[in-house]
Amino acid sequence: VLKGGTLIDGTGAAPVRNATLEFENGKITAVGRTGEFGERAAQAPTVIDVTGKTILPGFVNCHEHLDLHYSFGSWEHRSSQSSYYWTSRAARNALIALSEGVTTIRDVGSMGGSNIEVKRAIDDGMLHGPRSLASGLAICTTGGHGVEISIQVDGVDAVRRATRQILRSGADLIKIMASGGFIVSHGDDPMAPQFTVEELRAAVDEAHSAGRPTTAHCHPPLGIQRAVEAGVDCIEHGALLDQPSAELMAKNGTYLVPTIGETIVLAERGETLGKPDWLIAKCKAESASRMESFRFAVDAGVKIAGGTDTCDSMADEVELMIRGGMSPMQAIVAATRTGAELAGLGAQTGTLASGKWADIIVVEGDPIADVKALSRIELVFKEGALYRPAELRPAIGRYPL
Ligand SMILES: [Zn+2]
Repeated sequence: VLKGGTLIDGTGAAPVRNATLEFENGKITAVGRTGEFGERAAQAPTVIDVTGKTILPGFVNCHEHLDLHYSFGSWEHRSSQSSYYWTSRAARNALIALSEGVTTIRDVGSMGGSNIEVKRAIDDGMLHGPRSLASGLAICTTGGHGVEISIQVDGVDAVRRATRQILRSGADLIKIMASGGFIVSHGDDPMAPQFTVEELRAAVDEAHSAGRPTTAHCHPPLGIQRAVEAGVDCIEHGALLDQPSAELMAKNGTYLVPTIGETIVLAERGETLGKPDWLIAKCKAESASRMESFRFAVDAGVKIAGGTDTCDSMADEVELMIRGGMSPMQAIVAATRTGAELAGLGAQTGTLASGKWADIIVVEGDPIADVKALSRIELVFKEGALYRPAELRPAIGRYPL
């Protein structure tokens, strides 16, 4: 039992002061005001007094790469290491994710497609880490965005074949690169759509036939239009999204994972992550329009889920979503409930309610008054299993690296 804290349940409802949350065998059994529990709460086998702290759902990070999280240096530098190195690193980063309050993750790309094996190792209890939904290898055009983590294909049949291969490898979702990106210095233009509607539709058809969702890395309005027309379930980044494309996404129920930190954190703290000057300058130049694009999505009512994309924490991303125009409660919902819905786990996690998994964090202070409280995480429960970030730190070693 967690007793005496303020409870934010992830639905967007007002915080409950002096709340109690009871869970057993990995599932929440009761949530309410402490007064309603009477003597029952005091008689539980374990009672943790969390007075002065806030109880929230564990974060659902909808865009991360466990192997690359907090990686130092440029994309070109990252590509100089083999997938074995990065896979080893994912084991360490899974601990970092837990220590930052993430209990569920969408791992949307990894060197060699090894995020599927990392996910299995976590599911089998060999590694401690967030529950993961893994994309395996992504799909890109020949010479397209993310060739290092993708199968390069052209034409409808080739896209269909690659999608089938990736589904067979055990992917939980299909990631397709529908435009260029910002992360390399030459030859990858974020304004350029990649893949035709027909090619994107082939990936969507195959994934949906297998009961699995699709998500598209995409920045420009034309690429977003193509992806939405093809029936893609979610857009990653949307850095160049405009008002018409935001309205199109809202109308079609397409999710957005805005990953604002990949621009703003690199613009403001890129040096500490060893990023090259040209990338920091690019991010600085893009910062204002990035925030404007996010605002178009908020104002249009697009379903927005939080995600970090290697360079920040979910606490940082929530803070940036607030800077971009969300209320603190809206941003918390994006990082919990909406993320769980996008991950297809809305019935199991993302909010604190009886019958759901005991995916819970306890933070010091009040995140509605001071969002920095979300980075002061004292307790993390993943399906009831307790992790104390302070005790995980020595096992994590040095980071960022
Ligand atoms: Zn990414």
